[in-house]
Amino acid sequence: MSRKKIIYLDNAATTPLDPRVLAAMMPYLKEGYGNASTLYSLGQEAKEAIEKSRETIANFISAKAEEIIFTSGGTEADNFAIKGVAFANEKFGRHIITNTIEHHAVLEPCHWLEKRGFKVTYLPVDKNGLVNINEVEKAITDETILISVMQANNEIGTIEPISEIGKVVKSVRVKRKERGIKTPIYFHTDAVQSFGHLPIKVDELSVDLLSASAHKLYGPKGVGFLYLRRGVKIDHLLHGGGHEKGFRSGTENVAGVVGFAKAVELAKEELNREYKRLFELRDKLIKKIFEKIKNVRLNGHPHLRLPNNINLTVEGVEGEAMVLSLNDTGIAASTGSACSSKSLKPSHVLKAIGLSDEDAHSSLRLTLGRFTKDKDINYLSKVLPQVVEKLRSISPFYKKIN
Ligand SMILES: *Cc1c(COP(=O)(O)O)cnc(C)c1O
Repeated sequence: MSRKKIIYLDNAATTPLDPRVLAAMMPYLKEGYGNASTLYSLGQEAKEAIEKSRETIANFISAKAEEIIFTSGGTEADNFAIKGVAFANEKFGRHIITNTIEHHAVLEPCHWLEKRGFKVTYLPVDKNGLVNINEVEKAITDETILISVMQANNEIGTIEPISEIGKVVKSVRVKRKERGIKTPIYFHTDAVQSFGHLPIKVDELSVDLLSASAHKLYGPKGVGFLYLRRGVKIDHLLHGGGHEKGFRSGTENVAGVVGFAKAVELAKEELNREYKRLFELRDKLIKKIFEKIKNVRLNGHPHLRLPNNINLTVEGVEGEAMVLSLNDTGIAASTGSACSSKSLKPSHVLKAIGLSDEDAHSSLRLTLGRFTKDKDINYLSKVLPQVVEKLRSISPFYKKIN
């Protein structure tokens, strides 16, 4: 692969591997190749590296090491949480509550469970993408075993009121106990987008399960984890040699796990500084875009949003056309979500916050990251107005409305 330099503004889709993460992984890809389940030193060193990584990651979210189960990524962690809790607790109840703007890794397991007799409530969100706490409370029945709400949305960056929902779940648990109802109720959050951007303490959020993925915070692809609070009843999805205390069989991805822990270490060190830097850079970019381009709107919450997320509707311009034109100038950006951008269906998230098909198709997502520099923002704010002007000049639709 040879590449000319690109300005990468799609950090919500994936992030570049931090060179310091790669350096930490290298020994385990080369001489440290042992299988962590073996008894000789080579294997035991791999095992120690995994356990040390587990400790680092657990510390970062104020959990215990044994509550971290490594997976192949965010998708597996979400599937594990949802199907695992559903199957282990269906004798008590078969109702799950989630919402319309979750990632497909949450929505699809829910759809799949519906075909197998589970009932799923998909709560609507408001125009900024927020889930309403009162609606969560109202949707809970004595059959409800699981609530799943993401910490931050991958398309519009909206940050959900997780700790407030966590409090509702806790009070339901207390009331059930008083009434002698044995049905458990668990709270899961997909924190794949927020992990590394926002500080996370599992007890403050009152979550029982939490998903994260390394490649969204400058770690390698193909490794993630599910935080599983002690005592949560869950069925296993992968059966085999009993790795991860039986929760998730499969020979451990040693280098991946070590890389994930290094990524977490770096995120922890840089979290506050990076939050502020990205926030300022993002707001500067939004300001420039609004100064230079007419008829553009910001999708998502005005302030309860991830510090690196910009999601725009640029009237009269196809999102795909913008992405391809920006690509010609060396900029990587996205429209809708990365996984659905190959289809022509408008993003389910933008539809859920009330956008018309047209406005959803005219969306552009710019997500900044650790390697985004001031000069990248200046370049984009020069190029984007030109791209938009050119595309609008050939759009019969735009001429009609303006
Ligand atoms: C990327 C992402 C996932 C999927 O994680 P993978 O590691 O790519 O499988 C799940 N949820 C959210 C919110 C994401 O952004």
